[in-house]
Amino acid sequence: MIEIDGIRLNGRLETFATIGATQKGGVNRQALTEGDRRARQLLAELAWTRGFSVFQDPMANLFIRRAGRDEGLPPLVIGSHLDSQPAGGRFDGALGTLSAFEVLESLEDAGIETERPVVVVAWTNEEGCRFAPGCMGSMAFSAGEIPGEWRKKLATDGAPLTDELTATIESLPRATMIPLGFPIHAYLEVHIEQGPSLEADNIPIGVVGGIQGTRWLDVTVTGQTAHAGTTGLAYRRDPLRALTAALSSLHETIMPSDPDARFTVGRISVEPGSVNAIPDVAHCTVDIRHPNPGRLDELEDLVAATITSQSERQRCLVAISRSFDMPPCTFSTDLQDAVERAAAAKGFNSVRMLSGAFHDALFVNRVAPAAMIFVPCRDGLSHNEEESVEPRHAVAGCQVLAQATLFLVR
Ligand SMILES: [Zn+2]
Repeated sequence: MIEIDGIRLNGRLETFATIGATQKGGVNRQALTEGDRRARQLLAELAWTRGFSVFQDPMANLFIRRAGRDEGLPPLVIGSHLDSQPAGGRFDGALGTLSAFEVLESLEDAGIETERPVVVVAWTNEEGCRFAPGCMGSMAFSAGEIPGEWRKKLATDGAPLTDELTATIESLPRATMIPLGFPIHAYLEVHIEQGPSLEADNIPIGVVGGIQGTRWLDVTVTGQTAHAGTTGLAYRRDPLRALTAALSSLHETIMPSDPDARFTVGRISVEPGSVNAIPDVAHCTVDIRHPNPGRLDELEDLVAATITSQSERQRCLVAISRSFDMPPCTFSTDLQDAVERAAAAKGFNSVRMLSGAFHDALFVNRVAPAAMIFVPCRDGLSHNEEESVEPRHAVAGCQVLAQATLFLVR
């Protein structure tokens, strides 16, 4: 058994929340900004103080390593991210990164030697708000290369990605540079649930079995623009009428009939956008999510068929293209078992669940067994400055991570 220092963990969460702190108690520590660099520097300083080694790779992924008895063995990697949304909370990412570092310190405090090395990671740009896509660090790590098109990528504020990566890497001159990607024994990530179910069921630990798949569609319905006053019903080819009828029907059917499905239209626009003209073009985006890849295909087919049939009724044309396709991911059952055993050993109730959001663990899972540990957050609220985690739940997640770490590296 191993005990973590809960007071130290919650103190660290407070300290890191001051870096990029916002007026409303959240953080704005977007990827590769000055705030992100200061958080990385603080973590590296804490690591050097404890005698751990600090590494970074060309994607500015930050690694802190505690040696094992057999340095030839691939390490257990634990961690999350330190970047945030522009109006983000203080726990999304920081909880997992600081819990992992607390595990490393607790192993050191207890003088526990492990067979394998243990490496803490802070992945670069998980959030994807300043530079898209999200999870850039873990994505490049698992691919073993930085995609060529990223070299021209600009931030929302115009800063080139390559410049910001260089400046971030150079802000830690004492850290050793390593190439992208190395063999991993297993990967564990603690994260807030970012949803309401653990809190509602009063369960402190979620054992995450996988991440649902996500598919984004771009929909364009084309009709004919015409005078709003003179054009009678029989002469209208109104793409917005077709689109809204289809979306209304999809909202009525998809989620009510399948509790695992998610259907969201987050953006809609019409052209030419004149108060007294029937539009000629209506666009929308569609975000569909499901844990089962077959159901994702069925849902996409249903969306396409419904929009097409309503468009035909209005004598409009339809074009639908996929802009993003993330297949569902299933985590290692051995690791889920280890997390469940660790929770039981520490006396915490746990429940198996799926993640509705994607995380770095999804990408690491492509090259090594991975799993996640969720803890409750207040009202399921995340990507919000009011995001809040009870100190006892932060401690519970970290205790389970520590115990699972011992199971996996001994
Ligand atoms: Zn996160």
